Amino acid sequence: AKLIYFFEEGSSKDKGLLGGKGANLAEMTRLGLPVPAGFTITTESCMKYLEEPSFFEDWLKKDVLEAVIKLEAETKKSFTGDENILLVSVRSGAAFSMPGMMDTILNLGLNDLRVQSLARLTSMDFAFDCYRRLLQMFGEVVYGINKDKFNIRLQKMEKHFSKTAADFQEKEHLQVIESFKELYIENERVFPQNPIDQLLEAAKAVFKSWNNHRAKVYRELHEIPHHLGTAVNIQSMVFGNSGNESGTGVVFTRNPATGENKLFGEFLLNAQGEDVVAGIRTPESIEALQQVLPEAYADFKRYANILEQHYKDMQDIEFTIENGKLFILQTRNGKRTAKATLRIALDLVKEGLITKSEALLRISPGTIDQLIHPIFDPQAIQNVELLAEGLPASPGAATGAIVFTSEKAKECHALGQKVILVRQETSPEDIEGMIVSEAIVTSRGGMTSHAAVVARGMGTCCITGCEALTVNEELKTITCGERILTEGDLLSVDGTAGKLYLGEVPTVVAENDQNLELLLSWADEYADLQVRANAETVQDLTTAIEFGASGIGLARTEHMFFGEERVLEMRRLILAENKEEIREALDKLLAFQQEDFYQMFQVVEDKRMVIRLLDPPMHEFLPSDLNEMKQLAVKLNKHPSIVEEQIKRLQETNPMLGHRGCRLGITEPQIYQMQVKAIFHSAIQLTKEGYTVFPEIMIPLVAEKEELAYVRAFLIETIESIFVNHQMEPFPYEIGTMIELPRACIIADQLAQEADFFSFGTNDLTQMTYGFSRDDIGKFIHSYKEKNVMVNDPFQTLDQNGVGELIKLAVTKARQTKENLMIGICGEVGGDPKSIAFFRNIGIDYVSCSPYRIPAARLAVAHASI
Ligand code: ADP
Ligand code: MG
Ligand code: MG
Repeated sequence: AKLIYFFEEGSSKDKGLLGGKGANLAEMTRLGLPVPAGFTITTESCMKYLEEPSFFEDWLKKDVLEAVIKLEAETKKSFTGDENILLVSVRSGAAFSMPGMMDTILNLGLNDLRVQSLARLTSMDFAFDCYRRLLQMFGEVVYGINKDKFNIRLQKMEKHFSKTAADFQEKEHLQVIESFKELYIENERVFPQNPIDQLLEAAKAVFKSWNNHRAKVYRELHEIPHHLGTAVNIQSMVFGNSGNESGTGVVFTRNPATGENKLFGEFLLNAQGEDVVAGIRTPESIEALQQVLPEAYADFKRYANILEQHYKDMQDIEFTIENGKLFILQTRNGKRTAKATLRIALDLVKEGLITKSEALLRISPGTIDQLIHPIFDPQAIQNVELLAEGLPASPGAATGAIVFTSEKAKECHALGQKVILVRQETSPEDIEGMIVSEAIVTSRGGMTSHAAVVARGMGTCCITGCEALTVNEELKTITCGERILTEGDLLSVDGTAGKLYLGEVPTVVAENDQNLELLLSWADEYADLQVRANAETVQDLTTAIEFGASGIGLARTEHMFFGEERVLEMRRLILAENKEEIREALDKLLAFQQEDFYQMFQVVEDKRMVIRLLDPPMHEFLPSDLNEMKQLAVKLNKHPSIVEEQIKRLQETNPMLGHRGCRLGITEPQIYQMQVKAIFHSAIQLTKEGYTVFPEIMIPLVAEKEELAYVRAFLIETIESIFVNHQMEPFPYEIGTMIELPRACIIADQLAQEADFFSFGTNDLTQMTYGFSRDDIGKFIHSYKEKNVMVNDPFQTLDQNGVGELIKLAVTKARQTKENLMIGICGEVGGDPKSIAFFRNIGIDYVSCSPYRIPAARLAVAHASI
């Protein structure tokens, strides 16, 4: 294969082979932009060399030498001779941009003799400036000699001669060079005087820099494969450090923070390469260039425009001016904030550069998350201590004082303090504390633990499974390694990254964004599956509708049984000893729930809402603490020992596989009957008031056709009698089932006979298929990921091979029975962009996710549909 391409031979399509930098240098050369001549050694050569070092001498070297001769001819300069000298830069550049991760050497080709001829041609100052830079960069990149050691030596000399390097006489320059060379000797190295040797060594070093530590870490972080390799660009030098008509700069064609369509960047006069970034001198804003070098500035503007039009995206451009003449040394699509990403994409559509669908595809769903949640100031985050990491359960960023109980959280909140609720794990009783907390952290639990689900629902940032923390709720301490934290200590929680910091970190908030709404309205134009919300409280339902949910995919009814008054009635019901007690409790619960449903339907209006009937096992409503049992006995007017006895009887060894879901509906039909009464009483009332409502009733945890048939039959009977009692013409409603057991998937064709719709409960389905407890996976998923046993947490991203196959099977079978059966996904993975494409491809009608995930899901749905 061809190992070397001259810039005029490649194009921007060759990123894989030439790296991003090389491919774009080639493209700009084609476009006729002023790019200094040069050539690129391919990424393939890099990998071959890293695998087998002899490849360099045996194959590559010959081609490099030939290319140098060709470059000499192109530039009409000489790389080896002492007259009309050619110097080059040796620049790394991989297919994916890894800013500053690998190495570049400038001014290569200088030596003791050639520095003199360069000095004669230009100025002594300039020539020695270049030579010093070369010795320094070469020493660092090729031999690993710390750059600062050179600087220290230079500073000593400046002090010794009491003047700056710019005022040195030849003798003094030479002394500095000698001193730099001594540093090589101290490191048992010699600086090669032969330009060719310099070039070959430099190329090898750049290849090797592909595997330096920081580059590897960067690749891990950004999921860039390790086998790609870097290209090496050899380019003739132009000199920004040759006087005050020269300079160098870095410019974004639009503001990378806000997206504003205005040049954004900096330059330095009489400077080279890294000087702008290095922060030795303070650069000036690019606008100032217009005053100093108006022609170069005008040229720059023109080229910047050409590049934007050509790449149809905001560019990050590096340039150098040599004696008034502008050269472009690099261009790439610029990195930008979420806010700028959005604005630039929309502006480019307005300017006619890209289409709506291109704009949609350019924005990742993760970007949307950043637009609706606050994030920590990226600058500030670098100065705080990382305390621990857990699962990124709910995105956002917040700081507050540690509290350990829901009570304390409420108390502090009432006093206007910001708190972080830290617990081993949360339970439904913590809900009020969770609502007033800025963030929630648990030491146990997975991505679908109580804390995680509730937090996501509320849009509160949350980390779960933070196993490094030992939370002692009694002593009110957190132990983390050597450290002990107590109530009131400040924590900062990054729920997007799952990172926990000590102390306070300022956040930057995303305001409600009209650009986002516009983008999502485009997304909806392409969508061929719907996005519904998992929500049940009035607040969550409202949020969901505001975020553009097309309906409610899952309204859980559990919470309607919680709260002090309600749980008491529920307990009365569970522990009832006669019919009267049962009726009394049911009537109270009915009244509560009827009001709830009335409010819920008012928010949702004519959109569809899937209401899931009671799912958890009974004992979740009962106290486990002896004292509380006694108090309950008093309230219910019962003997404590009887209550204790009953509660013990209800306890289950394996509650998640226990007496719950439709199994309760079968053994205690009066609860489900009460729930549909509440639903239809309120629905009928609203209908009379002129609303249109469309209830969809969902029966959970069905494994057997007869379970569904049995429950469905008595529900229909109940509902029909309600219509009769209200003397009301029945309006349409549906009764469907949740598919969340492997057996249900396998007999989906039979279940479809008894169901008006299906919704896959992927949380339980994953739990039941894998046999992983969704609440405990946090304990070992880290280790699984580290050891590459599993790449993804299957509760976050659908396991397509296993759980996904089951779902696919069930969809196929169900549609054999009912061709148009409405099928949704209501588990956590319904909001996961990576899983959405799969759901679309197997013919799912809608996904449903927590309200704050809806905007990103709408975009993901468009991506899957385009
Ligand atoms: P990085 O990938 O770290 O940005 P580069 O290879 O782009 O490294 O080099 C950094 C800087 O060095 C460039 O922005 C440019 O200012 C300078 N540079 C590189 N090659 C040349 C050259 N041929 N002539 C002048 N300056 C150069
Ligand atoms: Mg990231
Ligand atoms: Mg660069």
